[in-house]
Amino acid sequence: MKEYGQDIEQRLHETLAKYWGYNAFRPGQDAIIHSVMAGRDTLALMPTGGGKSLTYQVPTLARDGLCIVITPLIALMKDQVDRLRQMGVSATAIHSGMSYTQIDIALDNCVYGDMKFLYVAPERLATEAFRLRVQRMKVTLLAVDEAHCISQWGYDFRPPYLRIAELRRLLPDVPILALTASATQLVSNDIMKHLGFKQPNILRSSFSRPNLSYSVRHTDDKDEQLLRVIRNVEGCGIVYVRSREGCEQLTEKLLQNGIKASYYHAGLPHAERSIRQDEWASSKVRIMVATNAFGMGIDKADVRFVVHYAMCDSLENYYQEAGRAGRDGKRSYALLLVASNDDQRISKRFESEFPPLDEVKSIYEKICSYLQVAIGDGLYNSLVFNMQEFCQREHIYMGKVRSALKLLSQNGYMTLIEEMDNPAKILFTVSRDDLYKIRIDRQDLDHIIRTLLRRYNGIFTEFKAIDEREISALTGYTVEKVKELLKRMWQMRIIRYIPANTSPMIFFDEERLPTKDIYISPDTYLHRKRLISERFNSMIEYAENETECRSVLLQRHFGDTQAQPCGICDICLAERRRLKEENKSKSTSNNSADNVTTTNSSISNNILSLIKSRNISAREVMREVSCEPHLVAKIIDELKAQGKISLSNEGKLVINE
Ligand code: ADP
Ligand code: MG
Repeated sequence: MKEYGQDIEQRLHETLAKYWGYNAFRPGQDAIIHSVMAGRDTLALMPTGGGKSLTYQVPTLARDGLCIVITPLIALMKDQVDRLRQMGVSATAIHSGMSYTQIDIALDNCVYGDMKFLYVAPERLATEAFRLRVQRMKVTLLAVDEAHCISQWGYDFRPPYLRIAELRRLLPDVPILALTASATQLVSNDIMKHLGFKQPNILRSSFSRPNLSYSVRHTDDKDEQLLRVIRNVEGCGIVYVRSREGCEQLTEKLLQNGIKASYYHAGLPHAERSIRQDEWASSKVRIMVATNAFGMGIDKADVRFVVHYAMCDSLENYYQEAGRAGRDGKRSYALLLVASNDDQRISKRFESEFPPLDEVKSIYEKICSYLQVAIGDGLYNSLVFNMQEFCQREHIYMGKVRSALKLLSQNGYMTLIEEMDNPAKILFTVSRDDLYKIRIDRQDLDHIIRTLLRRYNGIFTEFKAIDEREISALTGYTVEKVKELLKRMWQMRIIRYIPANTSPMIFFDEERLPTKDIYISPDTYLHRKRLISERFNSMIEYAENETECRSVLLQRHFGDTQAQPCGICDICLAERRRLKEENKSKSTSNNSADNVTTTNSSISNNILSLIKSRNISAREVMREVSCEPHLVAKIIDELKAQGKISLSNEGKLVINE
């Protein structure tokens, strides 16, 4: 902080208060923001929900210039842009769901307008329109969200991320902030290499959740265990199950037991999903039974428990889902239920989700036919892909299609884009000549037809994406009126009209090739197979662990080798009970003062190793060491008095050499 001065420090806090109404940065955010303000390339590792967005938003708002944010998920992108706009901040996005005109307007606004944030989907970075204009923008920061997607070593590798390197070359002096919630050492190094970090610089936030009690229950009656939790723990909860049918059945069962429950999965219509989510968020419904589709945008702070009916595909996913409990800092529970035949089921799932190469190619062919894309066609097209319908028609398991698509995307053929906003589309079904012959005696219809013909070329031969708002501006009619007129024309069979909708799409990174020419490199194939099995294994290891603190195991998984036992998971509690028993039998024969000194010295060792591991304040130590805070405070004072540790200018504890 001494490097940047008091005024900058103050400006950052004012920005935080002005736009968000928050009064303090969270642990970890501080360090990242200062690193960014100092112009250093920074890789920040922070758990999901930890508050990564703020680390590029606050510095950008606290000074002049534009921040370019690269992020892969369109839904999240739009969510961020909406939030910023609601706060009165100018923000825009470019992604594959937009027309070229829309993209042009957005880019121009960034060159000439007073834009603060430009969100870009990685596959849009390569376009000429973008590259030409980005150099004329006043960019002060390049933020890369989900930065692990750039690494071939990672499960989520997305080839378009590699294009960020080119962008970096266009903007050599702009510092980069890479953000991720999951990265091994290998992946971290890969991120810094591909993004051309001037100097390695990793800032890792803690993945510990001191108020979350993890436990695993082995049982063949999961329902009974669940009911027990629901009866014993007050407040709202989430129960994660694997299948949609499972959701519905379990909810039925809970309702029969007089528990207010509801379910949520991707098979429900959009509106229905958001109603259900709201009812649960406002605590009208106590338990949400859901598939992993339930997650985005859950901001409920007082979730008291998350129960998993089945293992996740990875420990990362488990950590993230379980972590939705206890955001308010109060004691909460994360319970995983395991039945004796679960690992057999998991290995079956693995087999069915990982298709042989020939099957990957045949899925490619089937998808192309389903989308009616001919060989040689399709380049850079995004087409609506109804995965559910496709799987039913072709009798293929959805997990398998997803896995095949992942391989196809990693080899640069096609990319599945989930949850896209698709613009409305129209096609004239009568020829231009016939159109002139039809007597249109309504002036408004005549006016809109002329406008459409002027504005959209080729509208007689293929479906064209249209923008109802743009047409509204051009015609002077309201958007509602435009929609009504389009419907009228559709009824008159002048046009075919597909209203705007949301659905997954497939983006063709490459034209459709003859299936024999599809090449999936054996490296990526085998590597992917190994990654998936490692991911499953980490989950199984967590479930089968009977000796190590669950929080320690999780934190080690995220690269923290210095984590301390949490004191509240099922393993730590069992250990504590065991020690109590032991002490009880000892204390009858022994002097108990001895025990106190041994525990004190083990606490002080814990404290010392925490301080050694990172920059930490006394308050944070008290939070992380799992015993009475006043005792920890006393021991910290003793260590200071003994000259073993001291307080730095930044208020952190340091070891005296
Ligand atoms: P991530 O990207 O790390 O998953 P987000 O940036 O989406 O996390 O932030 C998660 C939530 O935490 C958001 O609702 C955000 O407003 C909130 N948040 C972030 N920083 C703070 C802070 N300093 N104080 C209070 N809430 C915060
Ligand atoms: Mg985020």
